[in-house]
Amino acid sequence: MAGAGEKPFRARQLSTHYFSRLAHEPAQWTDIPAAAREKLAAELLPELMSVVRHISCDDDMTRKTLWRLHDGTLVESVMMRYPDRVTMCVSSQAGCGMNCPFCATGQAGLDRNLSTAEIVHQIVDGVRALRDGEVPGGGPERLSNIVFMGMGEPLANYKRVVGAIRRLTDPEPDGLGLSQRGITVSTVGLVPAMTRFADEGFKCRLAVSLHAPDDELRDTLVPVNTRWKVREVLDAAWEYAAKSARRVSIEYALIRDINDQAWRADLLGRLVKGKPVHVNLIPLNPTPGSQWTASRPEDEAAFVQALEDHGVPVTVRDTRGQEIDGACGQLAATER
Ligand code: SF4
Repeated sequence: MAGAGEKPFRARQLSTHYFSRLAHEPAQWTDIPAAAREKLAAELLPELMSVVRHISCDDDMTRKTLWRLHDGTLVESVMMRYPDRVTMCVSSQAGCGMNCPFCATGQAGLDRNLSTAEIVHQIVDGVRALRDGEVPGGGPERLSNIVFMGMGEPLANYKRVVGAIRRLTDPEPDGLGLSQRGITVSTVGLVPAMTRFADEGFKCRLAVSLHAPDDELRDTLVPVNTRWKVREVLDAAWEYAAKSARRVSIEYALIRDINDQAWRADLLGRLVKGKPVHVNLIPLNPTPGSQWTASRPEDEAAFVQALEDHGVPVTVRDTRGQEIDGACGQLAATER
């Protein structure tokens, strides 16, 4: 603020407008002289991104937003309303460099990392839209959960994602004042970054996208597995669980005849039983033109049973947004 030729106390005023009042139009900043507002907006809070469109489905309980960033890059965020909570799924990168073959985002490759501000603004605008009654559907009007499961591998954009978590959870007006416990960061298993993340001292949940319990299959489904094997990824996950005192979530997209066999369910059960873990099975959201599709209901049920036989807590994720290209990256892919 001093660099912009203004009084330092205006920094707090601007921060309060952004994070506490969610007042993003300079005209609303009535405690700042009118002549200074546009200049400060241009220098310190330029418009980073604009909405290309919102698409709703699931009886308006799911709203997906396609954003255009200042350089034309497209990213997506999704808000999911439930009777008792509101969850936002946000992007940490435009595109993704991890190249998982079943994923729309992975097919298009990595455009670029998002900045901390670009990550944070997806959520700040979601909180504002909820407050202003702009999001259809019912339920609570406060954001309860954030999942870093949109486009990108969050731990591949480590510094910006950690910066975003701080902004989201620092008390107002330095941040949004959200709870770390309501934030989930997913990773395909970048082991050194997982170890570093464990040392940040966050109480966030870590979600590991495992998708296969054996290296042979995982090398093809999650190509980064050729670098860090299942065993190393799980060891890093248990270290995170110990340091954060949070159960780790193991994400497993069930793909018909690829990774949904009974023996793989049994192997997964043996690998994670007795650990601070919750397994989240995700019926695959098929990508247009792809040979991958969701498991048969009977195979899904058998998979759940096999994990329960090992005493492993397991749920099948409720899939949202299928008719709006709900899988991350699909909406941006159709816009290109
Ligand atoms: S599944 Fe996740 S990590 Fe893999 S390519 Fe898609 S966005 Fe990237």
